[in-house]
Amino acid sequence: MARIGFVGLGKMGLPMARNLVTAGHEVLGFDISPAARQAAAAAGIALAPSAAEAARGAGFVLTMLPAGAHVRAAWAEMDAACAPEAVRLDCSTVDVETARAVAQGRRMLDAPVSGGTMGAENGTLTFMVGGAAEDVAAARPILEAMGRTIVHCGGPGTGQAAKLCNNMLLAISMIGTCEAFALAEKLGLSHAALFEVASRSSGQCWSLTTYCPVPGPVPGSPANRGYAPGFATELMVKDLGLSQQAAGAAGAHTPLGAAALALYERFAAEGGAGRDFSGIIEMLRRG
Ligand code: NAD
Repeated sequence: MARIGFVGLGKMGLPMARNLVTAGHEVLGFDISPAARQAAAAAGIALAPSAAEAARGAGFVLTMLPAGAHVRAAWAEMDAACAPEAVRLDCSTVDVETARAVAQGRRMLDAPVSGGTMGAENGTLTFMVGGAAEDVAAARPILEAMGRTIVHCGGPGTGQAAKLCNNMLLAISMIGTCEAFALAEKLGLSHAALFEVASRSSGQCWSLTTYCPVPGPVPGSPANRGYAPGFATELMVKDLGLSQQAAGAAGAHTPLGAAALALYERFAAEGGAGRDFSGIIEMLRRG
């Protein structure tokens, strides 16, 4: 069993760290927020007095932080305390540039996740991992204690790249699905009939068949509970902003990604920030 430093014990980090403890690892956690530290202690996670002390002597050091600036600051603070042979994993969703900058010259993986807080609680996250193959192999048992699917995407930054590309595609497909239902309503076509046809036709996609944005066809989708998240719109806005930043830096033409960001920013500003991202159908109906 490994000695693990875990920095960032928020909505995702706390249940992930708890799953590492459950798997028998020795975890030393840290969070700058007193409330997060209190919740972690109550969940049975041993705490260090600083990020550097959480990292000192650990074989694996993980961060699960809000954004790139926090990730750069935390790794700068931990650098001297981190053993050179320790494998470092950043599981936050950040820009590709930050992922590559913090990995430079270090044994480090970018390992963002999908699956949300439920996946973190249940240990069923998907990890998209960028970095050296031998480091991925070394970290695999640690990732398997927190997730079900681990995909090695390539060199440093490719885990974040996979996350940003996937979520841009998800946003576009969700808006398309919502527009199709909104048009069907105007044309007198029932939700059930459109679902029946599109789920067996070329319009089929995850946003339709797993996460349907109207109540009824998929009983477990957020549409059936007033668009309580799920995946909150503010997180989608963050990820779309990162994908547009990456597209700009790489010279990729992503007009639908840009349009999706503009629409989700508007939905967030109109009160949707904390609601599920599929709730954008209500804004699209209003026009
Ligand atoms: P959160 O805000 O609940 O948790 C982040 C924690 O980091 C907070 O407790 C904060 O106090 C702590 N923190 C900030 N700076 C710190 C520092 N320098 N040192 C130590 N602790 C510090 O956020 P979250 O929902 O857990 O998300 C974490 C990351 O996971 C984000 O990058 C997010 O985009 C990504 N993510 C979240 C979800 C989700 O459903 N919540 C899903 C997939 C990915």
